[in-house]
Amino acid sequence: MITLTVDGHKVQVPRGSTVLDAAKTAGIDVPTLCYLKDVNAVGVCRVCVVEIEGAKSLQASCVTPAAEGMVVHTSTPAVREARRTVLELIISNHPFECLTCERSGNCELQALADRFGIRDIEYQGERAQFTLDTSSPSIVRDPNKCILCRRCMSVCQKVQSVFALAPNDRGFATMIAPAFSDEVASAVCSLCGQCVLVCPTGALKERDQTEDVWEALADPSKHVVVQTAPAVRASIGEECGLPPGSRVTGQLVAALRQLGFDMVFDTQFAADLTIMEEGHEFISRLQNGGKLPLITSCSPGWIKFIEHFYPDLLPHLSTCKSPQQMFGAIAKTYYAEKVGIDPKDIFVVSVMPCTAKKFEARRPEMTASGYTDVDAVLTTRELGRMIREAGIDFASLAPEAYDPPLGISTGAAVIFGATGGVMEAALRTVSEVVLDREIENIDFVPVRGLEGIKEAEVNLDGQVVKVAVAHGLGNARRLLERIRSGEADYQFIEIMACPGGCIGGGGQPIPTNDEIRMKRIAAIYDEDRHMPLRKSHLNPAVQDLYREFLGKPLGPRSHELLHTHYHARARF
Ligand code: SF4
Ligand code: SF4
Ligand code: SF4
Repeated sequence: MITLTVDGHKVQVPRGSTVLDAAKTAGIDVPTLCYLKDVNAVGVCRVCVVEIEGAKSLQASCVTPAAEGMVVHTSTPAVREARRTVLELIISNHPFECLTCERSGNCELQALADRFGIRDIEYQGERAQFTLDTSSPSIVRDPNKCILCRRCMSVCQKVQSVFALAPNDRGFATMIAPAFSDEVASAVCSLCGQCVLVCPTGALKERDQTEDVWEALADPSKHVVVQTAPAVRASIGEECGLPPGSRVTGQLVAALRQLGFDMVFDTQFAADLTIMEEGHEFISRLQNGGKLPLITSCSPGWIKFIEHFYPDLLPHLSTCKSPQQMFGAIAKTYYAEKVGIDPKDIFVVSVMPCTAKKFEARRPEMTASGYTDVDAVLTTRELGRMIREAGIDFASLAPEAYDPPLGISTGAAVIFGATGGVMEAALRTVSEVVLDREIENIDFVPVRGLEGIKEAEVNLDGQVVKVAVAHGLGNARRLLERIRSGEADYQFIEIMACPGGCIGGGGQPIPTNDEIRMKRIAAIYDEDRHMPLRKSHLNPAVQDLYREFLGKPLGPRSHELLHTHYHARARF
């Protein structure tokens, strides 16, 4: 430990800490803008400057190591003046669009301008002028609102290992973008949206589809059904003023009904269906010498990543579509037939924690029903905006239940929302199908939690199955390198593109950090514990679906509607 003085307080911090850490220990909130804990400490914005006795100039506290005996002042006139000047300079090259900006009210630049009482901008002159990048169905880049903090680039490189973003050009022309200022749509970007989650301003956002959904809801010729991903019930509360980790499944259903959806269904129904298909696919590969390890395919950001970077490993992927797409295909065939509605009149909306799902819904393969299987994909944030626009008092809504049959699900489906959940759900079903008896302990705890790569062994009456779980594309890459080199001897692997799994998806409320991820995960497992059924193969609506329509898992109709193929994409 080292001891230093910050604003007159003696503080002790571990060696290797920064002055910013020491100030935090002293209970002082030094402002930051480019800094992002554990990801981006580059000292480029200079908002966190402090005075250190004996130093010739002000120092950026986020990159200055704390030293024994150091005396730091965080709010002298020189420090305050420097911070104000920095903010005024940033704002002098920033559009005045707060009234129309998606991040208004949740923008770190706006909050700092308010905190420092910036009312006039002294510096008037040249301004950067960029065109928006609307090339991708998932993410929109507005470089005019970019403050060059590099958080997006750092998360993309260090956490996701994708390196889709870099500084291009110099001076006023500087732009954080794909190489050669290319569009997102033609880059190696996985569309995971982790860059959107960390952007302090409105420079990165999802492609908004709320207008498409409002239009469909107002169209009397449309039968509008909505499906909600498991992770959304553990996070939509944050969009409506509730604390992270609020479990609000019933209020979510009530709000969607109030918005006017004809049927409120659950992606969890399709998650149970996924387990039926993927579980049997695993058993079939295990027993018939198929390609192992089998790797899960629910996460479209992960799918795009493997298509770009590891096309040689594509045969390891499960051929199962994601639950979102299975739902769309079933809604426009089985459900349409059951209720006697022409599928052309059914409009399927997904509420997802994910930006990559918008891309997935547009993949040409996703038309198995003969129509676009999923018509519009909203992120949790977009649904939050719709609920607020409609003036719904979310917190005081009486909980309501999902509509049958596509709203019926199990605890195995809800844990799809957290890293390790798909694996645990699959193990619950695979164990019972292979062993042909009920298993007592269905909590596969070793695959839970935020450790980057988790491993476990499951004994199926003498046959030991080795499984692994990775979340975040950097961890996925580490695992794939071990598979490529022949070091890994797993039989079954779950990979999710986003840190924490879907609860940390790129479409989730901002902020999303590890503390918040843990709270959302706790809500997910709590929901699982409270479900009357906790194994996918016991879902009665899924059993009906097989009996009435699909036949059996991996049967011809399943193959036609629920399975897909993948293809290599350009690496550069
Ligand atoms: S990014 Fe922030 S400061 Fe800029 S226009 Fe949007 S809300 Fe205003
Ligand atoms: S969406 Fe993901 S892969 Fe693409 S630039 Fe952002 S962080 Fe990188
Ligand atoms: S896009 Fe956002 S996160 Fe990336 S450098 Fe610009 S302001 Fe920072």
